[in-house]
Amino acid sequence: RRRLLEEQRDLPAISADGVLIHLRANIELPDDTDMVRRMNADGVGLYRSEFLFMNRPDIPDEEEQFHAFARVVEQMDGAPVTIRSLDIGADKGLRDDDAGLHAALNPALGLRGLRLCLRRPEWFRPHLRAILRASALGPVRLMLPMLSSMGQLLQTRALVGELQAELRAEGYNCDPDMPLGIMVEVPAVAMAAHYFAGQADFFSIGTNDLIQYALAVDRGDDDVNDLFDPLHAGVLAMIQYTIAAGHARGIPVAMCGEMAANPAFTALLLGLGLREFSMYSGAIPEVKETIRQTNIVEAEALAARALSGEMPVLPGGGHS
Ligand code: PEP
Ligand code: MG
Repeated sequence: RRRLLEEQRDLPAISADGVLIHLRANIELPDDTDMVRRMNADGVGLYRSEFLFMNRPDIPDEEEQFHAFARVVEQMDGAPVTIRSLDIGADKGLRDDDAGLHAALNPALGLRGLRLCLRRPEWFRPHLRAILRASALGPVRLMLPMLSSMGQLLQTRALVGELQAELRAEGYNCDPDMPLGIMVEVPAVAMAAHYFAGQADFFSIGTNDLIQYALAVDRGDDDVNDLFDPLHAGVLAMIQYTIAAGHARGIPVAMCGEMAANPAFTALLLGLGLREFSMYSGAIPEVKETIRQTNIVEAEALAARALSGEMPVLPGGGHS
């Protein structure tokens, strides 16, 4: 492992036939940036900002959030930082006494992620203000989790515009062109990716939730774990369609779910058209090594077979 890291660290993530791939890191806390820098990642592709809110009795105020975000942006020193807005609810709970989140009949289908934020402007406004203030310090991109409707995207974009004006009037700087992208983790959004690509500045495919919803398999339930199948032809079709629709509109398309971190899937994802991967830092050397050994034309043939339902045997792929 260590040897692999040392070998790969300074090599570019280029396929065997010369296509440049972006490898970014998923982080949960500001201190995780040390590891990101050690792996020489192309920035942060997913900062799970909800970790700042978890395991504590209170909600962090704008100032505390700003300091956390500012630290990440400063540590990343000019590399892009994709801050995902608060994604709590379902598997990412606050303390039980907060918000009545656990009372829902189907928490994974209930008030979570962006839905919850839009319902609670008293949380969402200071949260977005902190992200916007951090955007003055380096290249910040805002990413929305669990988006299911166009209305949610338009409403959030309007709110961001309003808060940018509010901050400017108060004398704060922020990047007026900060990209606003969405996680593609609801199947209907993947299937309507052509439509969402017209309004979002980038996509990032969240396979943990996308697979859960596409296959109706709880991502955290051991009893059905064997049915959680990233290689299902229906899942792959959604991934491929999302990538193609995003690229057709000229927006970047990344993947930040666990699937992106598994080297057994790397060639397949390259073959499906993916050019930006985001994963926990420790997975980067092995994925990079795999990219450097993969020929994209061969990967496209592999992807075509997998899409047709003819499953190639992928080591460690977990296909059932
Ligand atoms: C995902 O759903 O794939 C994802 C990256 O988000 P999370 O695992 O935080 O839900
Ligand atoms: Mg998710």
